[in-house]
Amino acid sequence: MREDGRGLRSNRVVLPDGIRPATILVRDGAIARIGPHNMAPERTSDYGDLVIMPGVIDTHVHINEPGRTEWEGFNTATMSAAAGGVTAMIDMPLNSIPPTTTRDALEAKIVAARGRLHVDVGFWGGVVPGNANELATLHQNGAFGFKCFLVPSGVPEFEAASESVLRDTVPELARLGVPLLVHAELPELIDSATKVAQEKDPRIYSTWLQSRPQEAEDQAVELLIRLAEQYRAKIHVVHLSSATAIPKIREAKRRGVNITVETCPHYLTINAEEVPDGATAYKCAPPIRDSANQRELWAALQENTIDFIASDHSPAPAEMKCCETGDFMRAWGGIASLQLTLPLVWTSARKRGIGIEHLTDWLCRRPAKLAALPRKGEIREGCDADLVIWNPEDPFEVSSQQLLFRHKLTPYTGRELFGVVQATYLRGEQIYCGGKITGPPKGRVLRRGQA
Ligand SMILES: [Zn+2]
Repeated sequence: MREDGRGLRSNRVVLPDGIRPATILVRDGAIARIGPHNMAPERTSDYGDLVIMPGVIDTHVHINEPGRTEWEGFNTATMSAAAGGVTAMIDMPLNSIPPTTTRDALEAKIVAARGRLHVDVGFWGGVVPGNANELATLHQNGAFGFKCFLVPSGVPEFEAASESVLRDTVPELARLGVPLLVHAELPELIDSATKVAQEKDPRIYSTWLQSRPQEAEDQAVELLIRLAEQYRAKIHVVHLSSATAIPKIREAKRRGVNITVETCPHYLTINAEEVPDGATAYKCAPPIRDSANQRELWAALQENTIDFIASDHSPAPAEMKCCETGDFMRAWGGIASLQLTLPLVWTSARKRGIGIEHLTDWLCRRPAKLAALPRKGEIREGCDADLVIWNPEDPFEVSSQQLLFRHKLTPYTGRELFGVVQATYLRGEQIYCGGKITGPPKGRVLRRGQA
């Protein structure tokens, strides 16, 4: 019997209960049914042995438009996402001007985004000193939750929040039922370590590494656990780098504290020992640490103490990365990688004998849960037909020509990775295929509660 609608078929469809041959029937942009491999919709694209997986959900991206569009903008970021199999992103509230700390700023973001989105984009709001009265309105207008810094953010218009600002804010966010995302490093230890590091050669990576001690992360994580517990709030630690914080997180989760944690591809695939002198493309905060630390991050992911992986794509123009001087202490901290999350994570997972089904937990299902996107992150009836079709066995070398984000400087150039993205679908429509963006922007602005 012929089924009404369009089908996508493969021998390896990643479903919530495992990987198997199936046909996904799509109607009106949603997954209408998951049928047997030989189901016969009106039109079917047969992808053979390629993997069909839910589109990647990246909850940590700095798009920077409006205001710093020369760093990264909606058009370039979302094209790059589509090429990397990312179908939804939540944009961080800082580095754009204005930062997303008021209702008007959120509207400015939405206006700037319209017509430029190749994938779906939603927005985190920001918590900064003095904007407590904006939080409920930001939430009503669709912000998915809130982000704050405990250390200077790198841009003057997004100030760090002290513990007392958090104590004024966290109960309100708990009442609203939205997560607080936190850059977890405390300033005091960093200030003293930075004074010592300033006496050393700024071109050597260990100078930067020493200026951001693990203890600064570990103590911040302890503070966040206390706040989540005391106010029964949901707190999410962004970009965890320090493996010595893991036992505390494990113990807090065991007690039922509502804390979740992400780490990033760079902490999982690069170690401090391999960062060349002067190679400021590798600079981020908290920093990439040593290989022993990296092994513990992988173990924590596998035991679900770390919940998922987000890119923290945070590009800047080459001049700001101080490429000529190679000065780690002055360079902008942020790594560009949006398009490469899937192959980066897969290449390392594959080496460790980890299967593709874990990838979908880390890259799709759990990030969708943090952002409360009930129609995304799984291949399930009723979900949006947001899909990535890729070849896990196919290797490629990262070159700047493939990268669609604005500034091509990334530590991954020249790396051989496994996992070529063949095609990406957004609500059942192909948006990327065989190295090319197909068609005009079809992405939508996502608002919490409506997505
Ligand atoms: Zn970030």
